[in-house]
Amino acid sequence: MTPDLDVIVADIVTAMGAADERGTVASYIPELAKIDPGQFGIAIATADGRILTGGDAETGFSIQSISKVFALTLALGKVGDQLWDRVGREPSGNAFNSIVQLEQEHGMPRNPFINAGAIVVADVNLGGHQPRVAIGEMLRFVRYLAGDDEVAINEAVAASETATGFRNMALANYMRAFDNVRHPVDLVLGTYFHQCAIEMSCRQLALAGRYLMLDGRHPEGGRVVSPRRARRINALMLTCGHYDASGDFAFRVGIPGKSGVGGGILAIVPGRASIAVWSPGLNASGNSQLGTLALEELAQRTGWSVFSPPPEGD
Ligand code: GLU
Repeated sequence: MTPDLDVIVADIVTAMGAADERGTVASYIPELAKIDPGQFGIAIATADGRILTGGDAETGFSIQSISKVFALTLALGKVGDQLWDRVGREPSGNAFNSIVQLEQEHGMPRNPFINAGAIVVADVNLGGHQPRVAIGEMLRFVRYLAGDDEVAINEAVAASETATGFRNMALANYMRAFDNVRHPVDLVLGTYFHQCAIEMSCRQLALAGRYLMLDGRHPEGGRVVSPRRARRINALMLTCGHYDASGDFAFRVGIPGKSGVGGGILAIVPGRASIAVWSPGLNASGNSQLGTLALEELAQRTGWSVFSPPPEGD
């Protein structure tokens, strides 16, 4: 039986509203520290074209590292598998902004979802252009995926991170020394900070993730990526999408997911659903406290998992 998603979504919104432990809002990007932690939203876009929403699903939030999924998709479209000469595909087991590992591994980031890897991806997407060209391309791509031209960049968040992103500057400069960042560091980081500052609601984000549940197809027709590429992006989300808590997320939730320090998570159930959850309070690993809890509950109630057969009647 297909689970009654409306009831499940309503139950999750009620449970999250009553939760005591809501985590801590990211404060290292000053603009994000101002966000009210009392919010929770969820949106589910299903493969049969439904969209279910609950809580603060229409409120825009900073997608931050979730943008790395879309940036990776663009970069693979530009340079294909050559990307893997510059970025690895292994879980990092380290914090999202770790510098130590980068030194040990000679300037080659473990994967495209830690900051160092995403900075190399931004360097690829820059491709000899000015940042505004690459940023414009990124924004158009996300709008196309979501089918919504209202998606925009929050300039205050981008400026806030530009003013305080000292660790990212260190990572980028370090990789520049290994020629793994090839454009001037300020241009690469300008691109990266702006992609992180894209603002989307849960509804927009769930819609934007549909190509990953549909084996690379755009729901309105045409193809975003090949089936093999969609599967590989999902594999990276599962193994690397939650930094050093990726194993725990796979254990608790069991589907590919990518988190951001804005408190959002995009999660994909291949062939079934694209899910966005958002709650700004983060757990100790920098992932949304309630977002993770909500996805755990959703996976349990629906039986959705990449590790078990489809629920009966599904
Ligand atoms: N813009 C953030 C940073 O580079 C992204 C981190 C995240 O969302 O995990 O620090």
